[in-house]
Amino acid sequence: MQAMGEFERINRWFARPAHQQRKRLGEVASLLGIGDDCALLSSSTHLGQTIAVSSDMLVCGRHFHADADPESIGHKALAVNLSDLAAMGAQPLAFTLSMALDSSQDEAWLASFSRGLFSLADSHRCELIGGDTTSGPLCLSLTVIGLVPNELALRRDSAQEGDQVWVSGQLGAAAYALKYPGDCPQAEERLHWPEPRLELGLALRGISRCAMDLSDGLLGDVVHILERSKVGVVLFANQLPLHPALIRCEPLERLSLALQGGDDYELLFTAKPQVRPKLEALADQLGLPLSCIGEITADGQRQLLDENRVPIDMAFRGFDHFC
Ligand code: ADP
Ligand code: MG
Repeated sequence: MQAMGEFERINRWFARPAHQQRKRLGEVASLLGIGDDCALLSSSTHLGQTIAVSSDMLVCGRHFHADADPESIGHKALAVNLSDLAAMGAQPLAFTLSMALDSSQDEAWLASFSRGLFSLADSHRCELIGGDTTSGPLCLSLTVIGLVPNELALRRDSAQEGDQVWVSGQLGAAAYALKYPGDCPQAEERLHWPEPRLELGLALRGISRCAMDLSDGLLGDVVHILERSKVGVVLFANQLPLHPALIRCEPLERLSLALQGGDDYELLFTAKPQVRPKLEALADQLGLPLSCIGEITADGQRQLLDENRVPIDMAFRGFDHFC
């Protein structure tokens, strides 16, 4: 029997019918529940603004090594959460931090961890407002809260046939560093110090309607957009912005690290062809490459093509914690 995957588990045991998600919570109503990078809540005290909420957990031994630099663990724990806010076009507001700590997390460890955490938090004016601390094997769970104007949130269910597919930055560095530790300092940097693309997420408001962040590998992640938007996609392998570290790999391994490896934390988004000049100007303004890598097509199509438009045989699936 095949193991039950991460998303099957969530859908089977935790996704509830829409009427239960949408019930009013005091002055706050839920607009979008399980299935996107953030949940969206509307609040009568934030007129015109939607509240975006997201949680991510990092487990020692699974998401980072026990002997990793605690400063980078602090940075990355918040960065991967802020990346989900960026993916919705939300401005960070505050976060909570729940931790299980054991005796290895001594004073020096905590000083270094909190330095990494707060340096990123301060640079995005995102305030720590609570959490929980217990003893146990090292595990970090953060919840971030942000704001986005009503109607401007970038949602996975909003891609349309004819949209172009874009991705920020470069792909595959973190996967390369995981596979070949110590081989390429720049790739190592991308793995341990990911940069949440918050400025880009904010700038995409009104230009794009649909975005997500890449955490589990592009070919698996994009399927969430396809399923929720009921569309298909054609991707062009020769237009992918591969990280220079991948030059050292064989062509197929190169593609696999860029498309099926995780931890990139770049934004994947769709936009109408007419806004291409705006996106090119935005890339210059942010000093961040933005690459058009494909287009949204009719439901059911999932293709990765080479430079001669010949299909490449690579599965549209990424990292899954259970399969
Ligand atoms: P992301 O990679 O953007 O953090 P995930 O792929 O981890 O998102 O999760 C997919 C969706 O499932 C998200 O909307 C998330 O909030 C939801 N989800 C994950 N685990 C649970 C859970 N235990 N209970 C409820 N919802 C969950
Ligand atoms: Mg995400």
